[in-house]
Amino acid sequence: MFRELLERWPVVKQIRSGDLRATGETAWSPQTHELRPKIHDCEQTRSICPYCGVGCGQVIYHKDNRIVQIEGDPDSPISRGHLCPKGADTKELHTHAHRLSQVKYRRPFATKWEPLDLETAMDMIAHRVWQTRKHSFTEQQEGEPVMHTQAMAHLGGATLDNEENYLIKKLFTGGLGMVCVSNQARI
Ligand code: SF4
Repeated sequence: MFRELLERWPVVKQIRSGDLRATGETAWSPQTHELRPKIHDCEQTRSICPYCGVGCGQVIYHKDNRIVQIEGDPDSPISRGHLCPKGADTKELHTHAHRLSQVKYRRPFATKWEPLDLETAMDMIAHRVWQTRKHSFTEQQEGEPVMHTQAMAHLGGATLDNEENYLIKKLFTGGLGMVCVSNQARI
């Protein structure tokens, strides 16, 4: 009993292990030994920060279908594990209490937003795009063929990749005749 107590005495542990300043394991309590990082038993998925065009790499740590943490991806050749304060807080995009998870619509002249189901919102957008194109499409200008509409524009997102931008350009310019297409919101 006495020997057991003596061996738990920090000074004895320090002398035995050579940790005379008590900055190593001798300063650890049993609780400290049990501590694990919160990402300890999470699965990892690689992704890209959605905020701006730099496209920093991220590692998403998740468990039981819940995001536990999002950190910089050390394997990303773009950012090498770093994230700016905005990117470092990406988890809040998913978990913040003020996150909108439903389409909001403000009718003409209304002062308040109202919830709308996604299916209805998509139908409304498609209808308006088609109507706008129908009424504004110009085949000729000053005797020259132009085949375009200047009544609509497209503003993309920062993490659109080459393939997505290719398809957007095909649809909006080739298909609908839009000339104002920007591939991303500016940083
Ligand atoms: S917002 Fe910050 S972390 Fe995200 S891509 Fe831009 S620079 Fe990188």
